[in-house]
Amino acid sequence: MVRLILGGLALVLVALAGFVGYRTMAFTAPPPPADVNVPDTAGYTIDVPNAAAHLSQAVRFRTVSLVAPEDDRKPFEDLQAWMIATYPAFNAAAQRETVNGLTVIYTWEGSDPGQPPLLLLAHQDVVPVPDDTRAAWTVDPFGGVIQNDAVWGRGSVDDKGSLVLLLEAAEYLARQGKKPVRTIIFAFGHDEEIGGADGAVQAAALLQQRGIRAWFALDEGMAAITEHPLTGGPASMIGISERGFGTLRVHATGEPGHSSMPPPETAVSLVSEAVVRIHDMPIEQRLEGGPAIDMMRALAPEISLNNRMAGANEWLFGPLLRQRMAQDRTARALMGTTVAPTMINGGGRANVLSAEATAMINYRFHPRDTAASILERARAEVADMEGVDVDWAEPPREATATSSTTSTSYALLAALSRSVIPDAPVAPGLVLAGTDSRNYSDVAENVYRFQPMLFAEDDLAGIHGTNEHLSFANIDRTIRFYVGLMEAGAMQ
Ligand SMILES: [Zn+2]
Repeated sequence: MVRLILGGLALVLVALAGFVGYRTMAFTAPPPPADVNVPDTAGYTIDVPNAAAHLSQAVRFRTVSLVAPEDDRKPFEDLQAWMIATYPAFNAAAQRETVNGLTVIYTWEGSDPGQPPLLLLAHQDVVPVPDDTRAAWTVDPFGGVIQNDAVWGRGSVDDKGSLVLLLEAAEYLARQGKKPVRTIIFAFGHDEEIGGADGAVQAAALLQQRGIRAWFALDEGMAAITEHPLTGGPASMIGISERGFGTLRVHATGEPGHSSMPPPETAVSLVSEAVVRIHDMPIEQRLEGGPAIDMMRALAPEISLNNRMAGANEWLFGPLLRQRMAQDRTARALMGTTVAPTMINGGGRANVLSAEATAMINYRFHPRDTAASILERARAEVADMEGVDVDWAEPPREATATSSTTSTSYALLAALSRSVIPDAPVAPGLVLAGTDSRNYSDVAENVYRFQPMLFAEDDLAGIHGTNEHLSFANIDRTIRFYVGLMEAGAMQ
């Protein structure tokens, strides 16, 4: 009898192992659509020092996002005059208009109005260089310094890197007399770093008004990295979705008075307990149902057999896998909505009961969660707590829709990335920060976020940090990528 049970168990185990093995083998990204035709980007003659000089000039315009009405608009106006003067062939070929005076839209009309346009995004504004970080810069952050085969300064990557190199690519083609078949629209916002309300939001509304629905939009947001945490090797990450953002305001009222004979709960004790309950509220963490699983699939050939087996069999290894990934903050942010209590406030004196206390809990929504579902669940957590109410501090922003990884447009971007960064397998990713592109989801069939630049971890620290710089090698590959994109995407 025991033998029979053991025999049965062995059979089950063999079947299970077979099933796990089969799923592991089948764990891979779908093949790209066959209809992408990528030009030979190595064949272009790119004048990299000239492009670097242009990027260096662009860095010198101090286009720090304008936060107050009296802030100086001149750096933006100067940058725009510079764009016109520096790219004459492109400016002659395309129509230029502005939105709110500072966001620039170029329309390079195609000969076939039946084809949905290609929408290329970048932003002109940069984040400031805080005084207390200035000493850590090895160069003047607005000096446009060129040294060690790189252009240094605030915005050299984010996002004048995209803006200038898109213009370089367009000028390169316009100068050869090339004309688009499919219309190419360039939208260069001026307030991306402070939310895009006056720039991208308005520009997208204008395009929508005109009935434009682009084939796809391409913006910043992700890039290629030399050491992907899953594979240890290079990978090009194309952002297919962007997390949402919302801050819950937890408010508690209590009986004011002296603290010598207190009631059982005070405003401060209530708000504290409410924050703990909401913070501890379980939030789904998993690979499936988001870009994380697609990323693993795409990188499957480079991933260790153990990790591949785990990723392919989340039904079996899920708890183990999730536990391991949760230890890494980036991986955790990929698997689910993140929650961070950030502020707490209440009371003015140690021996006085305050009438109210408030706390703020910041959420970044994974595409599988909605703001409404989070609020509903947070309210349910504190439903039995009298005097506590919970609501959004300001209207939350949902995660964006997730763009396709099986579209022709994704395949085109992937093939172009392969052509300029051959060692890097291409995988989709979730953008953890925010970009202008989220505002364009209603005017484009798909929205992708990718700068065709290869960064080591140190280089990435420069973005919004210190010693931001873009190497000549990245300038070269980025222009080739953009020229290839306009040619393959809009000129054949
Ligand atoms: Zn940016």
